[in-house]
Amino acid sequence: MIKDTLSARGVSRRYDDTTVVEDVSLKLKPGLITALLGGSGAGKSTLLRLFAGLEPVDAGEIWLGERALSKPGMTIAPDKRHIGLIFQDFALFPHLTAEQNVMFGLKALGKEAATAEARSWLERLDLTARAGAYPHELSGGEQQRVAIARALAPKPAAILMDEPFSGLDPALRSYVRDAALEAVRAAGIPALLVTHDPLEALESADHVAILKSGHLLQEGPAEEMYLQPRSADVAAALGPVNVMMADEVPAGLIDVPAGSQLVVRPEGILVEDSSPSRAQVVASQLSGGMTRLVLDMAGRRLIALVPRAGAPGAGHEIGIRLDPALSFIFPSAQV
Ligand code: ADP
Repeated sequence: MIKDTLSARGVSRRYDDTTVVEDVSLKLKPGLITALLGGSGAGKSTLLRLFAGLEPVDAGEIWLGERALSKPGMTIAPDKRHIGLIFQDFALFPHLTAEQNVMFGLKALGKEAATAEARSWLERLDLTARAGAYPHELSGGEQQRVAIARALAPKPAAILMDEPFSGLDPALRSYVRDAALEAVRAAGIPALLVTHDPLEALESADHVAILKSGHLLQEGPAEEMYLQPRSADVAAALGPVNVMMADEVPAGLIDVPAGSQLVVRPEGILVEDSSPSRAQVVASQLSGGMTRLVLDMAGRRLIALVPRAGAPGAGHEIGIRLDPALSFIFPSAQV
């Protein structure tokens, strides 16, 4: 069966005098997970709520395939959209077991078929042994997997997830996320993942859209967004960056036209002993599997992320070079 694209076409949403989503167009394609990334208050949840029909649009339209779901003055109710929703707080029915929660949306099937379908979803999410447990007997990660199973079991036309993993213990988060998103991907439907975590967006989404102050800054495949940001804001949204105006860039490091801005990712600063660009190592700390260096270069602080093996310690003088693939020059100050 051909699945439909869920799209926002020039949507805006205002509260009183403040426009929190402005003229946003975004296509959620079937089979792709699109991460909607941005800081707190960027308008991510509001855009998700416009897709879901939990809020009306003030301008623009929401479409599912050939069907208009929202226009100014017309909002198809959330339960008529056949779109699955997942929130941070799981929102399971407390008086129903895991299996009964998943069966909830399957009433049209009849008891026997609904039970079989619910069990197959629980199995896919590695929850078979927990089928009879009530929500209060389940861990956060288990509850969220039940919520995902419950959302996907009725075969929704799309799924919208608002920070679904941010309430989970970091040690469990990536396991739950991988299991949940594998099931979402297998469903082959449009999927939106709202997150404020750039690593989560890059690790788990196929497509990334960046929202700032209600505006969509850029969207594209995750790797393209990381390697070809169109602005300093986009580069900064996807991970840590070093930012310098042209006149702050130490001579010999890289040519930056006057008035432009240099943005370099920490892993774009390479240690190269023979380089004439010298820097002092102010601090050298473990950061995950890498080493994070705080460098002083002619009075400028730079953060570098280098392989742990052979990383210089604090107090050393080193030569550095920039990796052109991770160094970006933009016309004017934007961060
Ligand atoms: P995000 O999900 O990116 O953190 P939100 O979409 O929740 O951002 O909110 C965007 C802006 O809209 C925020 O400034 C928030 O305070 C405001 N906002 C959200 N919901 C309402 C509401 N119901 N009434 C008034 N302002 C709201």
